[in-house]
Amino acid sequence: MSEIQLLPQVREFLQRNHAHFIDGQYRAGTSGKRVPIVNPANGEVIAQITCATADEVESAVAAARRTFKGEWAQTSPYQRGVILNRLADLMEANGEELAQLETLCSGKSIHLSRMFEVGQSAIFLRYYAGWTTKINGETMSPSFPSMAGEQYTAFTRREPVGVVAGIVPWNFSVMIGVWKIAAALATGCTLVLKPSEFTPLTLLRLAELAIEAGVPAGVFNVINGTGEVGASLIEHPQVAKVSFTGSVPTGLKVGQSAMAANLTRVTLELGGKNAAALLPDANIDGAVAGLIQTGYVHQGQVCAAPERIYVHRSQLDETLAKFTAALQGMNIGSPLDESVNFGPLANKPQFDKVSQFLQLAREQSQVVCGGKPLARAGYFVEPTVVLANGPQDRLLHEETFGPILCVLPYDEVEELPALINDSPFGLTASMWTNDLSRALRLIPQIEAGTVYVNMHTFLDPSVPFGGIKASGTGREFGSAFIDDYTELKSVMIRY
Ligand code: NDP
Repeated sequence: MSEIQLLPQVREFLQRNHAHFIDGQYRAGTSGKRVPIVNPANGEVIAQITCATADEVESAVAAARRTFKGEWAQTSPYQRGVILNRLADLMEANGEELAQLETLCSGKSIHLSRMFEVGQSAIFLRYYAGWTTKINGETMSPSFPSMAGEQYTAFTRREPVGVVAGIVPWNFSVMIGVWKIAAALATGCTLVLKPSEFTPLTLLRLAELAIEAGVPAGVFNVINGTGEVGASLIEHPQVAKVSFTGSVPTGLKVGQSAMAANLTRVTLELGGKNAAALLPDANIDGAVAGLIQTGYVHQGQVCAAPERIYVHRSQLDETLAKFTAALQGMNIGSPLDESVNFGPLANKPQFDKVSQFLQLAREQSQVVCGGKPLARAGYFVEPTVVLANGPQDRLLHEETFGPILCVLPYDEVEELPALINDSPFGLTASMWTNDLSRALRLIPQIEAGTVYVNMHTFLDPSVPFGGIKASGTGREFGSAFIDDYTELKSVMIRY
């Protein structure tokens, strides 16, 4: 078992003076306020990033505004699609470099970085590229009475809203960044992205590839820094829309300040405490395998991942035994080791937060497997399964965003909707059953943006994704993104 060799271009990239990408150029940054970028697998500083000043935020938004009214507005929808496809090709061609950079910053296994941050991002880009030529309005037949022989016709146009501020979290910084880039560019908007201070590097490299793909200077800008930089970006009066992915408390602040700034439209993709219900006929092997795959991927740091599991009491012992066997077989270690399938948590605050939840589990629930931080360099904890102390166990209600699945037995299927809906969140839920008739009857009763059957967490570009309740507002993917990134203009003509 050994780590893969870092590519020479990755080593060279890390040596750069990192800050921003504004108006088509890599910018060194002027503030003197620097944030260290830490490799969560060993706690070592691998690079530094300079935080944006107010002037740098201003010049990023000004560049995005200029090109929104200028060159980008003159670029045909077809050409926008060609450019997005080229960016997908370049992501794949430079995939190993992007994957290694992202693994170094986030602790994500190199497999996941290759598969999701690169491969899945390219799929999303190509999907959105297909939409560029299909963003249309409608033709209407007005009902006005004709007084003197005149007639009326009307139609609607879908027009890009303008400059979009994209705020990206640290868990899937490239893929979530790409969702915002692709939606903005497909609709004719321009974009200023603010990555998380923990994972700022890969999106800077992606901005360079965008120029190579033919994205005009100023269309896609990246500014870096802590949350304050994001706050000043969303309050900018020239920002027409904010697309935020992150936690509920920050999302609430972002929504309030965007509205207060300029009635700026906001999409909020927030957290989840996602339920998985194993119906009494569930195939336990299949359900456990599916929940292991989706509940512990990237150490559980996935907003849509299952965190609370409802199991019929008759199947509880078998289910817990199978979870335990699967977790004990996991290979924990460096995310740059291709034989490893469980790495570190992504950063120190996240490690501290998950460690507190593990302590809570040891004190008030029954730890079935795992339950402790690991005594080694970096931010490692054990993959954990906990048996809840009852329906009000905090681990059934608070988002851990970590590798902790909390199990509660139930007796009657009729209890499930109330148990699943007993949450402030409503992002995803899953049912595991071969009784499709029963599943279809339960689906309308479940409060979640996405309900899966015999699967969980899969995000496909053709299927709208977003939350209800505290999990957010707005939808990405499918055709649903068009409403959020365009204004509907009505045109009426008398003739
Ligand atoms: P945060 O809410 O802490 O941060 C999200 C982003 O917002 C980061 O770029 C952060 O910058 C920035 N930010 C922080 N404060 C402000 C502010 N006042 N104004 C504007 N931007 C700000 O979330 P995390 O990065 O910790 O991500 C984890 C959370 O995100 C989890 O709760 C998870 O559920 C949720 N999430 C939701 C997803 C979804 O699609 N629903 C997907 C992925 C994650 P900085 O990091 O520099 O502080």
